[in-house]
Amino acid sequence: MRRRTRAGHAGAAARAVPAVPGAAREVLLAWARDRAGAKVHAGDLAARDRRGRAPFTCLGCGEPLVPHLGKVRARHFAHLPGSRCPLTAPETALHLDAKERLLALCAEAFAGARRVTLLARCPACRRTAPRDLAAVGDAAVAEGAVGPLRADVLVLARGAPALAFEVKVSHAVDAEKEAALAAAGVPALELDATGEWLRDGGDGPEVVAARSLGFAPCPPCAALARADADVVLMAAAVADYRPAEAHAGKRPKTAEPWTVDLVPTADVARALGAARREGQVLVAFGAESGEEGLARKRAMLTDKNVDLVVYNDVGRDDIGFDSEENEVVLVTRDSERTVAKAPKDTIARAILDEVERLLDGGG
Ligand SMILES: [Zn+2]
Ligand SMILES: [Zn+2]
Repeated sequence: MRRRTRAGHAGAAARAVPAVPGAAREVLLAWARDRAGAKVHAGDLAARDRRGRAPFTCLGCGEPLVPHLGKVRARHFAHLPGSRCPLTAPETALHLDAKERLLALCAEAFAGARRVTLLARCPACRRTAPRDLAAVGDAAVAEGAVGPLRADVLVLARGAPALAFEVKVSHAVDAEKEAALAAAGVPALELDATGEWLRDGGDGPEVVAARSLGFAPCPPCAALARADADVVLMAAAVADYRPAEAHAGKRPKTAEPWTVDLVPTADVARALGAARREGQVLVAFGAESGEEGLARKRAMLTDKNVDLVVYNDVGRDDIGFDSEENEVVLVTRDSERTVAKAPKDTIARAILDEVERLLDGGG
């Protein structure tokens, strides 16, 4: 079997089968099986290989296919005249092409050969929340079972269904299928194969969702879902930055240096502050160092609209990390006081006393 080059692969994604919604269009079959039984995309088939890899057969009906590798129309495979294969119908061919392209993208993403980004939407704010396909699962199968139904392409994580791709041509995912996916807790991306569902992003292909089903809300929305609480203590040491790229497995070591890009994480405190209602007490924590750090924490009262900032100086090694004790500064709009060095549960009580004062209308 011919080894595909990376360049050939990248080209295949860009050479989409022409499909202009609404316009009179011709849908061409892009996939076939070669003599060895391997799937081949017409865009990846070099003219010099057409004899060596022939005969080509249809993935749907098994009948022979003729490769058309000319320059006038997009490269494709054609059934012989008179074929009654369902794939001679444009809708069916479009569906199969999208499905096969998804399977190929999954294989590349899970092998670490290419970064594939899924552009799903947050169910709450409808904003696009990009996800790295490689972080979702480790394998993909066509017609994978989810409960009683089958997904067009099912992504698995250690054998368990993790994400369904549904390719829409004329029919969207119906209510029954949506319910089965929801019951199984499997999120789904519905792709519109008649539109531009695959595009070139900055660092790899992006899969554009026509509909996103069953995805968890983005982090700010998840926090906002609890925005009706009287007191929100944001003590968790969430990361300020996360790696732009995630790997599902171990990254093989090479002799080259490795640069990791970090991108800011969602600012949950800011999102809650923007939605803050009267009488609510929002408490943020800040590990900083020195007077400058304290000034940044003071600014959070107005910047992020929180009511209390608990500052501790991580520049000191006698308090905070790896210590039984801490010393903090409680910063509110009307006051600022230092809670002297003490065991951590004493500090916690002092913070809650301050919260109580604010609930009673102080601050
Ligand atoms: Zn066929
Ligand atoms: Zn959201």
